[in-house]
Amino acid sequence: MGLQLAKTFYRTSETLDHRVTSLRAALGERAASGEPLAHHTSFRIGGPADLFAAAHSAAELVEMVSLARQHHVPYLILGRGSNLLVADAGFRGLVIQNASREMRTQFLSAADGAALQNGTSNSMLCRVEAESGVFLPGLAQYTVQLGLAGLEWAAGIPATLGGAVVNNAGAFGGAMSDIVETVTLLRADGSIIACPAADLRFGYRTSRLKEAAADREIVLKAALLLHREAASALAARMEGYLAQRRERQPREPSAGSVFKNPPGDYAGRLIEQAGLKGLRIGDAQVSPKHANFIVNLDHAQASDVYALIVAIRAEVERRFGVALELEIELVGEWGTLT
Ligand SMILES: Cc1cc2nc3c(=O)[nH]c(=O)nc-3n(C[C@H](O)[C@H](O)[C@H](O)COP(=O)(O)OP(=O)(O)OC[C@H]3O[C@@H](n4cnc5c(N)ncnc54)[C@H](O)[C@@H]3O)c2cc1C
Repeated sequence: MGLQLAKTFYRTSETLDHRVTSLRAALGERAASGEPLAHHTSFRIGGPADLFAAAHSAAELVEMVSLARQHHVPYLILGRGSNLLVADAGFRGLVIQNASREMRTQFLSAADGAALQNGTSNSMLCRVEAESGVFLPGLAQYTVQLGLAGLEWAAGIPATLGGAVVNNAGAFGGAMSDIVETVTLLRADGSIIACPAADLRFGYRTSRLKEAAADREIVLKAALLLHREAASALAARMEGYLAQRRERQPREPSAGSVFKNPPGDYAGRLIEQAGLKGLRIGDAQVSPKHANFIVNLDHAQASDVYALIVAIRAEVERRFGVALELEIELVGEWGTLT
């Protein structure tokens, strides 16, 4: 049906168990075995990871990825798990939870070589540099309090900065692509580069970082350019956005919008028009509040959510001839998907 599994660095062989064991020894007490990924995804769904470790700095993130690569063990960088459907069978390899959260703020002067596309003068600009594990809503609150505009739309998106860059997260007319100046990337060959936003090929909920095949580049840090505005006006705008979310979006665990909006339309509208609101398989349900959300009513399995995805796609295609594309990513051990 054309659904694509997220492409994680993955090599199968009968010696994977041994390689996992030696990676575990290299990581020492930082690694846990069999951690349920349901504890780390916004869906509250997902089986165990062979190994699970948190990286508390960009340097530790680099070290853990390097160790996984050296031991030829597949790995997954986990932000807040807010765009993921992790298989019930879990993830074979190392899940690295990104908890790198250093940041600094630099008010710019006319002499600085930065510029927003809208022509804002440099003296009105501020550069916020943060490690990729920073929690996006916290960063949005922080920038609003400082009187910095550009990120107030992100207050209700439960992501890390890195995950938001990869997906070009956005809402209410704003997106990461409007404010990212540069990102620091760890490349597949182990080198670390500064990459300007223009080279990231940002698109609707995508970037070159998401397109890549087996060995994705990893966002270590990002520099954002924000402009000054009255903190009170920004706070009011942010509160308005949060109120709209409370009104329109379900409270139960989910991964946000399941499908991308097709050109010129809304996935939620098509799903609702197809009469699928409220459809339930196991404890997974098409939210009665917002048809593009699937919610976990209590003990939903990844297989329940997947079955709903298949059912929604089939019915929307049958009724409207539109093939909905997934916005969320499927990761882990899915076996053969039909
Ligand atoms: C209630 C709710 C509301 C939402 N609203 C919105 C919205 O309004 N707009 C929107 O765009 N999204 C929204 N989302 C979806 C989600 O928050 C975004 O897709 C977000 O960008 C995912 O970030 P994350 O850190 O949780 O990434 P994860 O889900 O943990 O990971 C997603 C992918 O990015 C990769 N990744 C994560 N960090 C890095 C890194 N540092 N370097 C390289 N790869 C990395 C992962 O390996 C994975 O492949 C919503 C989700 C929820 C649950």
